[in-house]
Amino acid sequence: MNKPSFEALPLAAPLHRALRELNYTTPSPIQTEAIPPQLEGRDVMGCAQTGTGKTAAFALPILHHLSLDPRRPRPGRARVLVLTPTRELAVQVGESFSKYGRHLRLSHALVYGGVSQHPQVKALRRGVDVLVATPGRLLDLLEQGCLELGGVEFLVLDEVDRMLDMGFIHDVRRISKELPAKRQTVLFSATITPEVQRIARDFVRDPVRIEISPDQPVVEKIHQQVCHVRGENKIPLLEHYIKTGSDAESSARTLVFSRTKHGAEKLSKKLNTLGIRSEAIHGNKSQGARQRALDLFRKGRVPVLVATDVAARGIDVKNITLVVNFDLPDVADTYVHRIGRTARAETLGHAVSFCDGTQIGDLRQIERYLGHGIEIDEGQPFHDGELMRSRPSASRGQPSHRRPGRGGFDPRRSRFGRGTPAGRGDRDRPARHYRKNPRS
Ligand code: AMP
Repeated sequence: MNKPSFEALPLAAPLHRALRELNYTTPSPIQTEAIPPQLEGRDVMGCAQTGTGKTAAFALPILHHLSLDPRRPRPGRARVLVLTPTRELAVQVGESFSKYGRHLRLSHALVYGGVSQHPQVKALRRGVDVLVATPGRLLDLLEQGCLELGGVEFLVLDEVDRMLDMGFIHDVRRISKELPAKRQTVLFSATITPEVQRIARDFVRDPVRIEISPDQPVVEKIHQQVCHVRGENKIPLLEHYIKTGSDAESSARTLVFSRTKHGAEKLSKKLNTLGIRSEAIHGNKSQGARQRALDLFRKGRVPVLVATDVAARGIDVKNITLVVNFDLPDVADTYVHRIGRTARAETLGHAVSFCDGTQIGDLRQIERYLGHGIEIDEGQPFHDGELMRSRPSASRGQPSHRRPGRGGFDPRRSRFGRGTPAGRGDRDRPARHYRKNPRS
């Protein structure tokens, strides 16, 4: 069978030119499936994870349509609206539109919370072709009368499952009331739960449904290991991983996850004192500081980024060779989301999780969610076999690397799984039940 190629897709010439310059030759599976129906004007509902090329899967057909019908955007209006759950993802999507649309004369604006609204309002006043926004700030600006959504021709709802997790869906529904019924809508979600399907019923019309089950799902391209280590040895162990092996190569980037904002800050400072340049991103930092840290990491100026889950959402940085779960997440699917930051596009990745005595239960839950055990790194210098044996009685005697049975386990229940009592108030995770007035 012929390999699909971008040249075969009937995209406008300026888009083909941009793709050639970016060295994109082969569309990813989600692009192969999602682009043609959108070019025909169909709505699409796609199940795809970050890292599969889903941004180009919606940006290219939208840019194609705009290029065929060039019009000056009217003041206070946008022709395309992309809603994302996080600011970081909004920035990334905005960059993708600029990248793919570099030979088209189109404008785009970003609207998200945590920064002054004035520059955003100014950009909107002129009118924009593409508006990428998080729901909270967009709703604020709508309520203030700073923009009008009656001219939206294309709507994209990106990472809908995350929007649900973060409690944004009511804002999205309120925004949708302002949108014209005649529009093309694309919805992407990493998982299609019944809740996501309900949203889809209300937003997309007769959609082409696309579910990509890649030959090799992202997590299977990742070499996953768990380290049984005492809490006091976690920093020396992290130093060991960063300073040794292939992860010490100059192009390597290490993303370290901490459960708490305070923990992320402290760990980053400690690494710097050990001579390992690092930055931290978490919800206590201003948007500007987060973006600066991310840029330094992306450009390779600092090889290590310490992040909390919220701050890390939507990070797409090439060459993340190692993801370290300094603390295990207590929500099983967060584990998959975290380790998916490595092995982007066609590369392979490595993920290491540190498990101290208090986190054995979380490890078991993650393994049940994955449907298999995670390999134990017994060769690391701080390996503590005693901790391995101190797991709860229900799982005692079953080595972590053996494949546990699924036993009627419901991964959705794991969202509200137990956590370690320490540091809850410092958690950087705006789950719905923690937030009174979700605004991003
Ligand atoms: P996304 O899933 O949209 O976050 O994209 C993941 C990464 O893959 C981004 O860095 C894109 O620039 C890159 N990418 C997307 N599509 C292609 C493609 N067809 N060929 C090469 N790289 C791609």
